[in-house]
Amino acid sequence: MTTHNEPARLIEQADVVIVGAGPAGLSMARALAPSGLAITIVEKNDRATLAEPPFDGREIALTHYSKELMQKLQLWSKISPEEIYPLRDAKVINGHSNYQLHFEQPTKARGKPANSLGFLISNHNIRRAAYEAVLPYENVQIIDGHSITEVNNSQPETIEAVLDNGQILKSKLLIAADSRFSGIRRQLGIGANMRDFGRTVIVFRMRHTLTNQHTAFECFHYGRTLALLPLEENLTNCVITINNEYVKEILSMTPTQLEEDIKKQLRGKLGDMTLASTIHHYPLVGVHANTFYTHRAALIGDAAVGMHPVTAHGFNLGLNSVGILAKKINDAVQQGKDIGSSALLASYQRHHMPHTLALYHGTNAMISLFTNDTPPARLVRSMVLRVSNNLPPLKKLISLQLTG
Ligand SMILES: Cc1cc2nc3c(=O)[nH]c(=O)nc-3n(C[C@H](O)[C@H](O)[C@H](O)COP(=O)(O)OP(=O)(O)OC[C@H]3O[C@@H](n4cnc5c(N)ncnc54)[C@H](O)[C@@H]3O)c2cc1C
Repeated sequence: MTTHNEPARLIEQADVVIVGAGPAGLSMARALAPSGLAITIVEKNDRATLAEPPFDGREIALTHYSKELMQKLQLWSKISPEEIYPLRDAKVINGHSNYQLHFEQPTKARGKPANSLGFLISNHNIRRAAYEAVLPYENVQIIDGHSITEVNNSQPETIEAVLDNGQILKSKLLIAADSRFSGIRRQLGIGANMRDFGRTVIVFRMRHTLTNQHTAFECFHYGRTLALLPLEENLTNCVITINNEYVKEILSMTPTQLEEDIKKQLRGKLGDMTLASTIHHYPLVGVHANTFYTHRAALIGDAAVGMHPVTAHGFNLGLNSVGILAKKINDAVQQGKDIGSSALLASYQRHHMPHTLALYHGTNAMISLFTNDTPPARLVRSMVLRVSNNLPPLKKLISLQLTG
């Protein structure tokens, strides 16, 4: 890459370079840190933002398996117990019907006694905990306030990443955790299945006078979807999914108009509503990379699979990717093997991809059906809920996906 005409650029060596200090990138660094590998994370945001990430409206529903992984990585203990909200049970409603598909409160999850389907934690708290978890490790270096702009994996034993200041990072393995719109994925020549749903998700918290009973609701109304994620008994995260053409209408509402609108959508089920946070919105684009690795590089988190949030799988899958890849790398370190070999990366893909492909395409198919308001689709929507409710093996399968 460096030519004779270019000024000499400082080259730094690491064992692993991770692009992106989002929850996936930081969790990966924490999972690898005890191995003693020299790890460099590069992140666009500055250190102050990593230490105190702002509230971004996202409440992340986590499975019991994700809880175990976060406990192992010592992220869980860094989140105040008052900010870990149990998700007792969940109900799905179609259109204006009163019929509900009900995922009841479980008695067991992953073979152990449990009284919740999962847990809700705000995204900014996960990010902060993941940052704090890597801080004690001297072998983890964070280059903040810079982007990786170029990668070169033409050498057999190493891969080079170029920072926006011209500095080159050379490593045995590069891990891209740079979001669903990953620029590194493109640089590496990895294609992806991308689905732009033409919709936007709008998120905010509301306080309300009646209890939410710690039950999550997914209301597939006609024209828009409203999900309710219970935090405290009288505090709920509202997730509106709507066609892009109507987004401005909602974002330009005054707090009082929004409160009235949500109350009307819920037919007063939660009583009077009061807006209790800032409002955030995200474009709905699902992404599944065609491959999770190439020579000396791997994709994790949303860079590998960026899910539609309706089934709350995104970061759960991100943690799975961390768990699977980190174990293979840590085993390779112990056995004195190459941590960036194609065999290792291929085995990561073999373990992770079958599950992600099924969930990604399954979720997209479900969304296509539940956002289709034609009369035949409305009928099928209603039938799907009834069949799922009355077919115990199917319901158990969906519940297992929810609890992990
Ligand atoms: C509304 C909403 C609700 C959600 N709900 C759930 C849920 O209930 N359950 C669930 O499991 N998941 C949920 N998700 C998904 C979850 O938020 C994501 O899966 C998760 O945040 C992805 O983490 P990540 O680290 O892979 O990527 P990101 O969080 O996108 O982080 C990527 C990082 O990379 C940095 N970066 C990008 N490019 C570069 C570069 N070139 N150089 C340096 N740094 C770079 C960025 O600054 C960023 O910090 C939801 C998502 C949304 C939008």
